[in-house]
Amino acid sequence: MKLHRCLFALILTTSVLSACKPATEVHKTAPENLVAVEGHKTRDLKTFGRELKSAVAIEDFIYQSRGTANAQMVVTSAGNVVIDTGLPQQRWVINHLKDVNDAPVTHLIVTHAHADHYGAASSFIEEGTEVIAHAEFPHNQGYLKALAPTLMLRNKIFFPDDMPPVPTAALAAFYPTMETTKLVSDTYAFEQGGVRFEVMAMPGAEGSDGLVVWLPDHGILFTGDLYGHTFPMWPNLTTIRGERARFPLPYVDSINRVLALDPKLLIPSHFEPIEGRERIREGLTRMRDAVLYVHDEVIQGINDGKDVYTLMSEIQLPEELAVPEVHGKVSWGVRSIWETYLGWFHLESTTELYAVPVRDVYPDVVALGGGPEVFAAEAKKNLERGEPERALHLAEMSLSVDPKNANALQVRLAALELLLDRSGDVNHYEVEWLKHRIIATREELGL
Ligand SMILES: [Zn+2]
Repeated sequence: MKLHRCLFALILTTSVLSACKPATEVHKTAPENLVAVEGHKTRDLKTFGRELKSAVAIEDFIYQSRGTANAQMVVTSAGNVVIDTGLPQQRWVINHLKDVNDAPVTHLIVTHAHADHYGAASSFIEEGTEVIAHAEFPHNQGYLKALAPTLMLRNKIFFPDDMPPVPTAALAAFYPTMETTKLVSDTYAFEQGGVRFEVMAMPGAEGSDGLVVWLPDHGILFTGDLYGHTFPMWPNLTTIRGERARFPLPYVDSINRVLALDPKLLIPSHFEPIEGRERIREGLTRMRDAVLYVHDEVIQGINDGKDVYTLMSEIQLPEELAVPEVHGKVSWGVRSIWETYLGWFHLESTTELYAVPVRDVYPDVVALGGGPEVFAAEAKKNLERGEPERALHLAEMSLSVDPKNANALQVRLAALELLLDRSGDVNHYEVEWLKHRIIATREELGL
């Protein structure tokens, strides 16, 4: 086990924090720089913190090391408590914290089972480190690891810049395993070196295994990904890269618990901290009320006999509840809430119950309708009418018979470009998916 001279200094002195200042200069963040969260886009994670040469001192005993995901460290007189680890391939995230202070890590708390939050755990775990996660962490880690060969390929579509530069087939090996020593299903309180910690289980926007860490004597809450990565934002209730749905009402309960704490500073594991009780209350309240509004509208719509596609197009947030849809979209949330409660059988067609999808009869429909060129032409007409979604359906029917049909591919390309244009460059997943399909279509056209 590594022991640092600082540990002894900490035990022997009451001025514990100044005794443990690093030899190298730590970048101090001016308070006004603690607030620039609104306006971030997901793609900003590609460059966030890259200009820093050291960890940021948020308080004189709390340090944050920044990258795609941040790692946090609370320095106490009896060792360090690390909250989230960052990505293992972003070594500077680990090194910047160790440069601050390399006393033993007594506790490692991971806020959920996403690799950017615990992937570098082995760099912080020493003999005797308490490794703390949510009671559902092992299940979520287990299925995400089992599906890693597929999920890593999907991540390469949505986060091409964050994937290690190795052959695609080898990516799955990068999804790490972490052994825990303490699982939390409600609250786990401990004191370390005079600092009180309360680790609270709070399912949130990024999974059922969300943890937050509360410092009750300081009014500071480490939020992990409780609400996502920008503040405020619409929660990603089902991520289109593929994962279990996140349930809306447990998310609402978690936000209510945070409101009751009335924190003065939120330290998330992406982007900058959020400072100020009023600002925090306002943002949390808006996110909570936005989800409750959509939730209640979906329930009402279901009971009114409306189908999910009608509700996806009808339900919109009122202006006073508008929140950025940078990761999830409200329309996807509508579908997620619907299927969370009612499952995948929509009772619209008996065929939903059997393993014969509608695409199986596309060739018959195309043959009866005059062939792939007719369908490509009809797709074009729909596109010219400003209906790219319908154009895509018809182009896909044409391509089911003739996968190289140039006219159908041209319509598909134009429809994707129109959807990208209409996206307003807001939602990361939508934009990255459309770009991915545009590149693939252009390649098929030899462009
Ligand atoms: Zn995250």
